[in-house]
Amino acid sequence: MTEKRTGAQIRQEFIDFFIERGHTFVPSSPLVPGGDSTLLFTNAGMVQFKDVFLGTDHRPYTRAVNAQKCLRVSGKHNDLEEVGRDNTHHTFFEMLGNWSFGDYYKKEAIAWAWQLMTEVWGLPKEKIWATYFKDDLNEIPEDLEVAEIWLDQPGFNPDHLLPFGRKDNFWEMAETGPCGPDTEIHIDRGPEFCNLADDPNHTCRVNGDCERFLEIWNNVFIQYNRISEKELVPLEKTHVDTGMGFERIVSVLQNVRSNYETDLFSPIIHCIQKLTGQTDAEREANLTPYRVIADHARATTFLIADGVVPGNVGRNYICRMLIRRAERFGAKLNLNEPFMAKVAQIVIDEYGDFYPELRRNAATILDNLTREEIQFKKTIDAGLEHLEELLSQVEAEGKRVLDGKKAFNLYATLGLPLEITRDIAQEQGFDVDTDGFQAAMEAHRLASGTGKAFGELGGEDVQIYTHIAEQLHELNKLDQGGVTYDPYQPILEPLEILALVKDGQQVQSAEPGEKIAVLLPRTWFFVESGGQVSDTGEIVSADEGKWRIRITDMRKPAAGIIIHIGEVVHGQPHVGDRVLLKVDQDRRIQIMRNHTATHLLHTALHTVLGTHARQAGSLVAPDRLRFDFTHPKPMTRTELLDVEAHVNRAILENYQLNIGKKPLQQAIDEGALALFGEKYDAVVRTIQIGDQGALSYELCGGTHVDETGEIGLFIITYEGSIAAGIRRIEAITGWQAYQYARERMNILNNIDHFLGTVPAETFSKLESLSDALNHAEKELEKLRNRQAVNAFEQKLSEIEEIDGVSVLRAILPDADANSLREMTDKFREKYASGLILLASVQNDKPVLIAAVTDDLIKRGLHAGELIKQVASVVGGGGGGRPTLAQAGGKVASKLSEALDQVSIYIKEHIK
Ligand SMILES: [Zn+2]
Ligand SMILES: [Zn+2]
Repeated sequence: MTEKRTGAQIRQEFIDFFIERGHTFVPSSPLVPGGDSTLLFTNAGMVQFKDVFLGTDHRPYTRAVNAQKCLRVSGKHNDLEEVGRDNTHHTFFEMLGNWSFGDYYKKEAIAWAWQLMTEVWGLPKEKIWATYFKDDLNEIPEDLEVAEIWLDQPGFNPDHLLPFGRKDNFWEMAETGPCGPDTEIHIDRGPEFCNLADDPNHTCRVNGDCERFLEIWNNVFIQYNRISEKELVPLEKTHVDTGMGFERIVSVLQNVRSNYETDLFSPIIHCIQKLTGQTDAEREANLTPYRVIADHARATTFLIADGVVPGNVGRNYICRMLIRRAERFGAKLNLNEPFMAKVAQIVIDEYGDFYPELRRNAATILDNLTREEIQFKKTIDAGLEHLEELLSQVEAEGKRVLDGKKAFNLYATLGLPLEITRDIAQEQGFDVDTDGFQAAMEAHRLASGTGKAFGELGGEDVQIYTHIAEQLHELNKLDQGGVTYDPYQPILEPLEILALVKDGQQVQSAEPGEKIAVLLPRTWFFVESGGQVSDTGEIVSADEGKWRIRITDMRKPAAGIIIHIGEVVHGQPHVGDRVLLKVDQDRRIQIMRNHTATHLLHTALHTVLGTHARQAGSLVAPDRLRFDFTHPKPMTRTELLDVEAHVNRAILENYQLNIGKKPLQQAIDEGALALFGEKYDAVVRTIQIGDQGALSYELCGGTHVDETGEIGLFIITYEGSIAAGIRRIEAITGWQAYQYARERMNILNNIDHFLGTVPAETFSKLESLSDALNHAEKELEKLRNRQAVNAFEQKLSEIEEIDGVSVLRAILPDADANSLREMTDKFREKYASGLILLASVQNDKPVLIAAVTDDLIKRGLHAGELIKQVASVVGGGGGGRPTLAQAGGKVASKLSEALDQVSIYIKEHIK
């Protein structure tokens, strides 16, 4: 262990070691898990292989090796508060893993782990410890096979093999499903690494509490399927699933105490130090902020590269929160200018070779970070100040917990994420009601209609359908791979109903009016994916006219299961009945037009705006298409028309669509666009438009037209913003576009008919009409004011004497506030001493103005106080300077009564 390897070398050595042993290198899947709505972020290496273990996905290889990007920030294992405060917690991290899908097993896995650690990496054999499974409940057999294999490893110390129970050495994917024993590999870093040596009750040990023994690798052997709490069935094919925390193994091999001291972090920390200008000693004294910023910069750089930009809900909220949290810790280091882009640039430089998506999206990453920082700076001071107020209120009430709803309001109005509020509250000995925060956020989300809740499928559904699938597998009625799904070829022959589910219960038949889920062995109804909505249609009895179900939705409630959801229109469908599947064809065709148009739109945006305009979401429905993409500013009208023209040109060229299947890597190498949030199999479906996909080349499972000409016409109906840095375009095609255009033309024709114009003249005619109207309105206003002035001049002769004060009070209904003010000026020019109060009605509301000459102010009068008293009668308020004041009111009918207050006021105040 004398030579120091770089982190990049260690990662590559792991991968190469397993490639040499017949493994296929599988690139990391994105941080956003495709096709899994129950998971916020990819949080382990096995996420992209989950369906392989469940038997519903098949790969062309049986051995795989990977380095997976992972993010853990919310959910059960929320370690966010630990991040930066200790040596090992991160939000973003990498997992190294080797995998066997029904291929090699315990013997090879353990021997290879031993070789890699001791021969390739040179870890001292006498420092390595291993654990194996021995059931603490005595229900599952002890894994003696693993124990023996360990004792066979050359140089392994037999005393270093320890049995542990279910908590440490038995792995389960969920409450049911694949599971099995595992073996953990620990390393003894020596007594100097113990951080609990001062505790007299402490003993250093494997699976103990201190940092001396580190778990570096877990090898899971999947050999059972759990059917219930007590029932395990051996699997026909056994699998290996291993996970090695990359940051941790690098810290061991580089012989440093903290992950942050490895070369995975040191260039980032160094960059932050350069920005703060602090000395090494100052840095050591402020370690937590340095580490938080380094961690969060890494996480957000990778997040934005995978399309997760800062935003208000879900994953986008997490990205926003991490940037803002880094920003706050930056403030502790006096970093007052935006700094995240500078730190992120180092992350891109350091990780860009292995993760090329960082370089590809560098501009978007840097741009989003800086924009978010600037936006946050606008409100952070107000936010922190308000939080201090809230905390002192909590203190005053003798409580220690800040209300969750208040914490949410702090976020909604001043942009302070919960996590920052909690950091600050905890620093002052308070806590925050996070459940209340989540509830308030959810209520707000529902009210504003944004985003879809995560984990929309209830656990009950999964269990019922898993159970049904098991029954059908036993009866040989359903393939092991589940329902056969091919939406591209119509199924014309009759199929058998395998199961019916009503209100979460399996039933044998259904009645008219009942809502029902229908399970068939095959289907060609499209199931929502890649933004394309599900098909609707009918399932009818193959016995003509016997019964009919109207299908309104499609779902995948459990692995391999696809259900048709609908309502029985007439008759009684039974399990076992033969049925015909009728997809709504017109609707499907309109969806196909919109889907192909979406691909053309994507290309057009790249051409007109640039390749940074990446897809950030899409909806392909029968009546419209919606496309969200990253772009920092609103599109100009010229750009929009240009994009629309590009798409229509491609439609008129009538390109043939070339739809094929090929290995994922080949498609990517050929330049195919892989879309954000999608899960891709090893063999992918490719949609090419133009020569060799010159116009558009995407990986896509959607249904498409044969030739672009079938789209007919493409019209953009909307362009706007949905979040910082994300724009949305809505468009229509085919008949919708024709009808839209026809309707607009009808409106134009009606206008021309009314104006007596032809379309070429319509606009100039409207302009001149509008000019004429403006002119007339101005003239009318002038006349009204002149009338008011005349009335005022008449009133000047009606000046009263009240307690020796010259007073003019009048209601001038036609005058606006400006003319009232001019009149009071005139009054003061004309009279060296006096008081004036004028009133008018504007838009049914009283307007009042009062003026007092300087000599009367000395005698105790005040225009502001006067107007307050007068306005109160008409239900209003106001005020102003002693010389001039203005007020409004609500009840115009009480104006003359209000004016009586003038004499009362004078009598009360004059000296
Ligand atoms: Zn210890
Ligand atoms: Zn598509």
